[in-house]
Amino acid sequence: MKTDVEKAQLKTLADYRPQMAQCVKCGLCRAHCPVFAERGRETAVARGKITLAQALLDGDIGPDDKVAESLSQCLLCGTCSRHCPNQVPVDSMVLAARRELAAHRGRSLLSRSLAAVLRRPRLMQMLAFGVPRFAGLLFHRVPRQSGLRLRFSLPMVSRQRSLPAFARNSFRRSHAEYHPGNPDRPLVALFTGCMINFIYPQAGEGALRALTALGFNVVIPRDQGCCGLPALSAGDGATAGELAANNLRAFSLHNPAHIVALCASCHSGMTRYFCDLGPAYEKLSLRVTDIHTLLVDAGLEAVLQGLPRPATVPGAALHLPCHLRHDPQQAAAPGRLLDALTSTDWVPMDRSEACCGLGGTFSLYHYATSQRLGAIKAEAFRQSGADRLVTACPGCIMQLQDSLDQAGLPQRACHILELLGEALEDVQKLALPASSPTIRAEQKSNL
Ligand code: SF4
Ligand code: SF4
Repeated sequence: MKTDVEKAQLKTLADYRPQMAQCVKCGLCRAHCPVFAERGRETAVARGKITLAQALLDGDIGPDDKVAESLSQCLLCGTCSRHCPNQVPVDSMVLAARRELAAHRGRSLLSRSLAAVLRRPRLMQMLAFGVPRFAGLLFHRVPRQSGLRLRFSLPMVSRQRSLPAFARNSFRRSHAEYHPGNPDRPLVALFTGCMINFIYPQAGEGALRALTALGFNVVIPRDQGCCGLPALSAGDGATAGELAANNLRAFSLHNPAHIVALCASCHSGMTRYFCDLGPAYEKLSLRVTDIHTLLVDAGLEAVLQGLPRPATVPGAALHLPCHLRHDPQQAAAPGRLLDALTSTDWVPMDRSEACCGLGGTFSLYHYATSQRLGAIKAEAFRQSGADRLVTACPGCIMQLQDSLDQAGLPQRACHILELLGEALEDVQKLALPASSPTIRAEQKSNL
């Protein structure tokens, strides 16, 4: 039964006036913005976007095509904010400016198409079920070992682009909702995200295996849905608010101690953007944690280090998703897990922290720029000599695989959770270290 939850209230562009005033126009962000590095235009960099957003608010410019194009030129990677002396929240401001533009100009075709799918989980499920059955009609593989390529053009999806296949069964449908662990361990809820649910279920398997190996009680709430970030990225605040309310309802029902996000972008959607929507959302967002950080805190490194080491092991290079870089502990966690795996050697790679070039709707609107950023990453990977490219975000996996395919490299991109799942296949439940600081049953206060 659905219960009423607080309506999500998104900030308006005008609410960001104080933060806009914090931009001192020093231009330091120019040295760090991947889009500016490619485009070289002032409107592509944070300072330029803030100036445009302010002019839009003040009525000095109108919501025309040029402004819309400039504000679409942002990967929402947050690199500028991390290097900004005043920590101006540029990505949040760009999202608010896109909503403001949509309010004046109407929503784009992309935004309306996304809303039609994201608001209807059953339609998403039907697509996920139907597309693999018609895959031969829709896609082909050129060369044969590459990802899927469309046989015909679709608006904003290049035929050149290598696409991942839908899984035969979605992760949530192929698992029970509850997975009991040790009675004295807390309950954690899995936030799977759409891509792990429908495209990369093997990453979900890895997460479940790692959590149950550590004795956690796990719930995979049936009614959870999209985190709302794709809708936010497309300037659709109403859909993002509806999706947030749905997730608030779905997770509050189980009262978990932790909500673990398996996807770096979903984690960002459920924390940085979710917490602004109202008190109930903020309270829930405080329970959201990135799975890699939770696994490190719970002592999984020691478990992994205790596993036997095969005679020969492949090398894996790590790409760190932008959305995990906001916090040093989170940024370090995927590398710590990779380092602890005895089945893989961690191979250093140049620019492992550079954006992969996906940026939500950015790669749909600006595929050529997105490809150029991906090509830089693929070249760094080639030079590393690694056998696999590992990351912590399914969106990055899709973009990295496309970049490897475009560069003619045969290697695979995958989620680090997939490697954990393979390594832990035979491990039975293990004791959780007693002094783990973040895993406490008393955190189960009411949401
Ligand atoms: S966004 Fe930050 S780094 Fe960029 S110009 Fe403004 S104050 Fe400087
Ligand atoms: S969020 Fe990323 S792409 Fe957007 S302006 Fe900042 S650095 Fe550039």
